[in-house]
Amino acid sequence: RKLVGKVTTGSETFDALMGGGFETQAIVEVYGEFGSGKTQVAHQVAVNVQLPAEEGGLNGSVIIIDTENTFRPERIAQMVEGLPPSGEPEKPREPEEFLRNIHVARAYNSNHQILLAESALDLAEKMKKSGKPARLLIVDSLTAHFRAEYVGRGTLADRQQKLNKHLHTLMRFADLNNAVVLVTNQVMAKPDAFFGDPTKPVGGHIVGHTATFRIYLRKSKGEKRIARLIDSPNLPDGEAVFAVTSAGLMD
Ligand code: ADP
Ligand code: MG
Repeated sequence: RKLVGKVTTGSETFDALMGGGFETQAIVEVYGEFGSGKTQVAHQVAVNVQLPAEEGGLNGSVIIIDTENTFRPERIAQMVEGLPPSGEPEKPREPEEFLRNIHVARAYNSNHQILLAESALDLAEKMKKSGKPARLLIVDSLTAHFRAEYVGRGTLADRQQKLNKHLHTLMRFADLNNAVVLVTNQVMAKPDAFFGDPTKPVGGHIVGHTATFRIYLRKSKGEKRIARLIDSPNLPDGEAVFAVTSAGLMD
């Protein structure tokens, strides 16, 4: 078993909540309402994982499965500009270089999403030979297509079975590449006719048991966000307050 790696979130309090950052060989699920900052967290980690270890990264590349068309290269550039000063001030960071190390694929439906996750295993295998192996896979959103396509009680078992298999592909990616797998999951502000309890993320207990870390994200005043760690196997439950600013995540 390889040594677990950790990627900084950009916020010291958020990192501390996570035991030093987002762990590799694990699925990290960030769930919360629309606008809570899930996609912001994903963008920031896609930048930070590329940094050298001394700066909280893993010197790795990123694969993103974008299901809601919310990936924004300009936001990545903004976050690169917003990074704390590097240990090598003579080598300025180039947003283009960070963008080159992010491989984005749009998923058009849940079956396509499942296929893309399997292709990500092959792509990562090829990337192992490069200087920047894939150390982060993002699925943003994990559940949106499933939620939209499998409506009605009769389809629930089918949906859970597919989602379960998909999650096992993701876990395999995390293990084979010593990578972080970051998935997002939306919860509804109002009760949902088919999915019941509004405070529970889509996918219910199957996602819950496969995800290694579950983080519930919510909005606070202004730029402030609250991350709550739920049911971690090795860390105490708790909360961290951080900020989402134009320069990215910070304390
Ligand atoms: P979710 O994915 O949970 O639906 P997002 O991650 O898209 O939510 O969060 C959107 C929020 O992030 C915005 O409402 C805003 O508060 C913040 N945000 C997005 N872009 C910027 C930016 N460039 N500067 C500052 N805050 C931003
Ligand atoms: Mg989003």
